[in-house]
Amino acid sequence: MTEQNGDAAALSVRHLAKQYANANKRVLDDVSFEVPKGRVLVVVGPSGSGKSTLLRAIAGLEPIQGGDIALGGEVIETGRPGSEKAGRSARSSELRTRIGMVFQSYDLFPNKTVLGNIMMAPVLVLGRDKAEVEREAIELLKRVGLADRKDAWPHELSGGQRQRIAICRALILHPEVLLFDEITAALDPEMVREVLDVMIGLARAGQTMVIVTHEMRFARAIADEVMLLEDGRIIERCDDPERFFTQPETERARQFLRTFE
Ligand code: ADP
Ligand code: MG
Repeated sequence: MTEQNGDAAALSVRHLAKQYANANKRVLDDVSFEVPKGRVLVVVGPSGSGKSTLLRAIAGLEPIQGGDIALGGEVIETGRPGSEKAGRSARSSELRTRIGMVFQSYDLFPNKTVLGNIMMAPVLVLGRDKAEVEREAIELLKRVGLADRKDAWPHELSGGQRQRIAICRALILHPEVLLFDEITAALDPEMVREVLDVMIGLARAGQTMVIVTHEMRFARAIADEVMLLEDGRIIERCDDPERFFTQPETERARQFLRTFE
């Protein structure tokens, strides 16, 4: 049966299996879930449970060994047994731009200004018109409250400002799905809020997102669905975040949430 693209989930992950080279165990094992268009999935779980690997696999930064990943009903990647050693997945650069990712470490190019960082991929990879891209970059900078820093260098910015620029750099490619891997984890506490507020604004604007975070109050506020991962498996999934955080179904989820009290 072919799926109607209009009805398909923005992101769908089916029976995903991931193993690293020289490891005898799967880091992700039979992971399946969907994120409908405009919705926010928050992934939580203890350190080492496979959260970063899951996002990296979805973004095409890691090959997968089983299952598949689809965008709007179109399969963009299928697991290949024996692909453990490949550096990245075999995805085309056009497909790559359809999923954006922001990381914990500020990965701006140090030798480019704020504007240069944001404009690089749309101009160089997609060959878009420079003047038009610049106008859009400035609109994005306004949206995250940093229009006055467009000519600054990364080293002149605070961690919170750099993460907001990293978000702009992802947004300018109009990703169908945006992935966030603990993007406030390395920030000083006073800068966490300004970054979380940008993400809440994106959720309100209907951006489809998958967010890995240890900020449980934020998770509760922004999630449409919460998923607990442990040892590469989904332990619990709940489309009522309030219920997940107050009355989770599994003992494992109760234990996990207690560590944040
Ligand atoms: P999390 O983000 O939830 O802390 P990770 O996805 O980083 O978890 O890691 C999941 C498991 O995979 C851990 O056991 C980790 O040691 C292992 N792992 C992560 N990256 C690699 C790698 N490049 N090579 C081998 N093992 C890895
Ligand atoms: Mg991680």
